[in-house]
Amino acid sequence: MNYETVIKRSKKMVERNNQEVRVIYMLLEHVLNLPTSHILANLEEEIDENILEEFSELLAEYVVDEKPVAYILGYTYFYNLKLTVNNDVFIPRKETEELVGIVIDLLKDKEDMIVADIATGSGNIAISVKKNLKVDKMYAVDISDKALDVASKNASDNDADIHFINGDLLQPLIDNDLKVDVIISNPPYIKEGYPLSNAVYNHEPHLALFAKKDGMENYERILVQSKQVLNDGGYIFFEIGFDQGQRMIDL
Ligand code: GLN
Repeated sequence: MNYETVIKRSKKMVERNNQEVRVIYMLLEHVLNLPTSHILANLEEEIDENILEEFSELLAEYVVDEKPVAYILGYTYFYNLKLTVNNDVFIPRKETEELVGIVIDLLKDKEDMIVADIATGSGNIAISVKKNLKVDKMYAVDISDKALDVASKNASDNDADIHFINGDLLQPLIDNDLKVDVIISNPPYIKEGYPLSNAVYNHEPHLALFAKKDGMENYERILVQSKQVLNDGGYIFFEIGFDQGQRMIDL
């Protein structure tokens, strides 16, 4: 079978479920180890049977199991970094790149900062901030040891010096009497029972998605704990849900 036929058949499967056509190209690039530009310029080229089988299996994971493409490939991109992901960690999102961009812009003239990323997951925030600002020490905390395994691998793959600590939000910093200048967090903030797509609900770790008190519990606890951790003149940055602005102001 040539590229053209494979793409045509795959498009039918994907479109039937209202899924994303671009995933076909992402998976083809992955199995062929070729850029989409090459594939589109050589539509008559035949695909090796073993590679076709591998592609069909991956496409079925997307179409049938509704598995997120980042988990199928085992990696994603965040702020120009390639990060390993598996279903022990939340997949880094575009919105969080925006948060990191804002933090970098606001703090770009500061030096020797001590920073903590709380609920680090894949390590995306800690690593991107460490690489783009003058951070003296970066702590990254997560309650999940499995997430910390992924985050440590990402830090070493991307050459970022980060101190990973297992624990509940700011508690390990309090226990070790550590103080920081900046706290950044994109904690779990979805209200329990909120309807999510199958791709998210069935595959991403619920520990990384949901929070009590209408999704506000982690913010509340971080703010209370921060009194023991944040240096004078320090900053706290949060990603919040689209409908949590007023409640965050109230907190
Ligand atoms: N901090 C990680 C991220 O921003 C993990 C978020 C989470 O698990 N809720 O992607």
